[in-house]
Amino acid sequence: MLNKNLSTILRTTKRHLAKLEYLGVNTVKEFLLYFPRTYSDSSEYTQIIDVRTDEVNVIKGKISSLFNINTKYGKKITKGVFTDDSGSIQVIWFNQGHLTKFLPRNKEIILSGKAKFAFGKISLQSPSYEIIKPYEEQIHTGRITPVYHETEGISSKWMREKIKPLVDEWTDLFQEYMPQEILDEHKLIDYKTAIKNVHFPESDEMLDRARERLAFDELFLLQLKVLQKKWHWQNISSEQAKSIELKNDDIKTCIDSLSFELTGAQTRVLKEILDDLQKNFPMTRLIQGDVGSGKTIVAALAALNAVKNGYQVCIMAPTEILAKQHYQTFIKTLQKYNLNIQFIAGSTTKKQKENIVRQMKTGTADLIIGTHALIQEKIGFKNLGLAIIDEQHRFGVKQRDILKSHGAPHLLCMTATPIPRTLAITIYGDQDLSIIDEMPKGRQEIYTKVVPEKKRIDAYRWIEDQVAKGRQAFIVCPLIDESDVLEVKSVLKEYAFLSEHIFPSLKLGLLHGKLKQEDKDEIMEDFKNNNLNILVSTSVIEVGIDIPNATIMLIEGAERFGLSQLHQFRGRVGRGEHKSYCFLFTGALSEEGTTRMKAMEKHASGFKLAEIDLNLRGPGEIYGIKQSGIPDLKMASLTDSKTIEKARKSAEKIIAKDPKLKNLPMIAEKIAEMYEIYVKD
Ligand code: ADP
Ligand code: MG
Repeated sequence: MLNKNLSTILRTTKRHLAKLEYLGVNTVKEFLLYFPRTYSDSSEYTQIIDVRTDEVNVIKGKISSLFNINTKYGKKITKGVFTDDSGSIQVIWFNQGHLTKFLPRNKEIILSGKAKFAFGKISLQSPSYEIIKPYEEQIHTGRITPVYHETEGISSKWMREKIKPLVDEWTDLFQEYMPQEILDEHKLIDYKTAIKNVHFPESDEMLDRARERLAFDELFLLQLKVLQKKWHWQNISSEQAKSIELKNDDIKTCIDSLSFELTGAQTRVLKEILDDLQKNFPMTRLIQGDVGSGKTIVAALAALNAVKNGYQVCIMAPTEILAKQHYQTFIKTLQKYNLNIQFIAGSTTKKQKENIVRQMKTGTADLIIGTHALIQEKIGFKNLGLAIIDEQHRFGVKQRDILKSHGAPHLLCMTATPIPRTLAITIYGDQDLSIIDEMPKGRQEIYTKVVPEKKRIDAYRWIEDQVAKGRQAFIVCPLIDESDVLEVKSVLKEYAFLSEHIFPSLKLGLLHGKLKQEDKDEIMEDFKNNNLNILVSTSVIEVGIDIPNATIMLIEGAERFGLSQLHQFRGRVGRGEHKSYCFLFTGALSEEGTTRMKAMEKHASGFKLAEIDLNLRGPGEIYGIKQSGIPDLKMASLTDSKTIEKARKSAEKIIAKDPKLKNLPMIAEKIAEMYEIYVKD
């Protein structure tokens, strides 16, 4: 019944129906699940004597006179006098001449609109109106009024009028699908009541409870979906699962050979991984650890363990520079084990590629490190036991799934964008989380400062000074939204200016996304070997590179970058024994911009910064939510950690008992619906 098409129910025009269709609203059910965007609480009437200008006032009173005036320019103004017990006020509407016929005189009506002061008089301008019918509740004014998203030709007022009778008549047909024990546990109201109250709340409290219930539902369904995904991966793949036993001696000798001691956090996370590898279903684990927390070595040890069990391991990184760096680290760390380690990326020639792929397929290659090239079509493995993805937020779900399809390997993802737990269990909820929350010993905090323009020269002198001491600097140019081309243009200009006017006697390098791979590599190599003093770059510098001798990170247009990204840039320095600095230059700052820059000065922890960014800017743009494959949420917020935790717990209980939701078909349907509806948008 609820699936009845609106054209058979609503009395309206074809044009309006088409508009609704455009909003994804075709059926009664879809209309009732089209929730208000916000509410305007006008449940208190203002006395005319208390009317405030430039604010919305809701007044109950009577119109005593109303007439139209034609202006010189052919416009029509409707003017009138509106009166209540306390006084009278002028009302004005523009181009709504029909109102003189439509609005009754000397009958109670409610007007709601802004009062303006003009020509020495206060008047209520273009208020919305509602005629009070006896024994009927008001739907537009005089209560908490729902405000719907408007689209051209459909006003929120129209929506309210159309939806009200549907709510009254049809909501009872919605069936409760949530198990009673969950409702009881979290003290949630029933579904019907929630839908009724989200449109036309009985009270503030009921509105809160309705939103609470509907938000819970969204997060709960989402959690069920990710947990189901995890369950499927672990169970369906368990036939192919590769239990990888612990090669304790090899791990020990490798750890002993390192020039440093593992941190407690590294040791703990390594153990979590090695435990997982021994299980008879494939691992899906995400390591989160701040920039420089030492994720690579943990991955290398896990890789060694897998290879020592006779399996192949691949490591995928988002850029060639980073993949190359991993390749070198792995060779250095694992050289004594006589492994066949291969590198594959965009710059690999066709012939080399064929050769490497052959080694991968025949199983002679033990470790394959590369970029996206690793998941191209013709790639295959003989016996992939462990797949590692670095900087996983740079990849989509799809790329992860491709690697998984090569014989269900254990999967280890890493990210240096630490995100708050509740967000992580939402967007990466199908993975187990490991957190490296401790920095290697002796790391110094990087001195971070927003530099005012008048001190620019001082900053440049500081760089010269550091270079004189043998150190190196990065200069990152602002992010330009429009296009790569403009960005390259601006970095070229900056590079020319700096080389000519600021640092004429120093050696500068230039790095941007449009360079050929070989050129990029050569420049990075030069910088790494200290043949260049300063590297001028666009944001391509961002990910993972390790140059311990660099001590200054100067960022132009810092306000254009997110906090997490700035933190990543900053993580390029402070990797060696030398005191390091991060200088931020900004354009004009909004209040939010100022807060963010201050946060950079104050906080060294990526987690803390991520949280601040999340609260200031919302999760969308920061964590690539779009890539994560979760639907848009209508009612819930990804920052609502309390509800997320509750939803997670309840979903976990259900999946533990009934992973396929066999006994909960209505919930299964609801999940399908949610993903279908929302994906359509
Ligand atoms: P990230 O977690 O950002 O990927 P890396 O794995 O690149 O960090 O490590 C950053 C640097 O820290 C590397 O030079 C690495 O050799 C070094 N490192 C890793 N672990 C430790 C440790 N426990 N003590 C000292 N240095 C370490
Ligand atoms: Mg890294």
